[in-house]
Amino acid sequence: MVQKMKDKEVRDLEILGHRIVEEAGEDTAKKRRLPQIKNEKKEVFYSDLLYALMNLRFCEGEAKAHWDEILKHKWEMSEKLGRNVGVRVAALDYFKNIKGLIKSPKIVEVSEFAATSWRAMTDSLTELYNHRYFQNAVNRRVSSVRQDGGCFSILLFDIDFFKVYNDANGHIAGDVVLVEAARILKEHVREGDVAARYGGEEFGIVIGGAGKREASEIAERIRVRFRKFDFANEEVMPSGEVTISGGVATCPEDGKMRKKLVSVVDDRLYEAKRKGRDRICTSVY
Ligand code: GH3
Ligand code: MG
Ligand code: MG
Repeated sequence: MVQKMKDKEVRDLEILGHRIVEEAGEDTAKKRRLPQIKNEKKEVFYSDLLYALMNLRFCEGEAKAHWDEILKHKWEMSEKLGRNVGVRVAALDYFKNIKGLIKSPKIVEVSEFAATSWRAMTDSLTELYNHRYFQNAVNRRVSSVRQDGGCFSILLFDIDFFKVYNDANGHIAGDVVLVEAARILKEHVREGDVAARYGGEEFGIVIGGAGKREASEIAERIRVRFRKFDFANEEVMPSGEVTISGGVATCPEDGKMRKKLVSVVDDRLYEAKRKGRDRICTSVY
């Protein structure tokens, strides 16, 4: 029934949602944009609306019923107080004191909530998504493949001999390489795909709709871009260049579970290391 969500979509929804909440909750205001938004969102309009309002996720029918009750409650509260109490105050009273669905709410500006959510899902050095977000993204993609078919791929990269770079140039210079690396990865992902800092000098990418061939080609393009990129003081590296190794795993053929896919991609990355680094291992090559 009620389900807490914790993704980037939440943040987008919050930003968009707070405007929609205001329009939908108004008695007389111009609701010109609402029919269009309702039409676009169809079966999830009320569900998204309540999520934007309260961070509670209901199915559409249940959400619509709650919303109607909230508007009624807003009208009754406003009548008694002799002023418009607004949809948020009415919703708070409804969910906390009437339904008991929230126990200890905290009131916070939506912009602050969005910033906090953003910090919880990104890495501050590289501004890539963090490990947790990456794992959640894989889970979401796995569910989507199981439900609707299709495919997606995971790419996992690790900078080669990064310890050598750090030891020779210092940690701050190493951090600059990580930031440059993140920029390269961001250049290679489309909107809706996920580029994440998986660990210290490891990076993960989730590419929706990509089969093993497409994913392997993208991984190879990234590897070549690293090799060609002019990193500062890279002559200290064993090959004279900062390079990366990578692995690719594809759902559903390499697995239909997050753990299995992550284990396959991890094995392939370490195979690339064993075979001499600066290479990509996939089921294609
Ligand atoms: P391999 O090719 O086997 O991956 O060799 P490697 O030296 O990259 O691997 P190893 O695991 O031995 O060392 C990883 C290095 O990455 C050591 C650590 O100092 C560095 N590192 C991890 N996180 C950070 C970071 O946030 N900043 C910097 N500057 N270095 C980091
Ligand atoms: Mg490494
Ligand atoms: Mg490593």
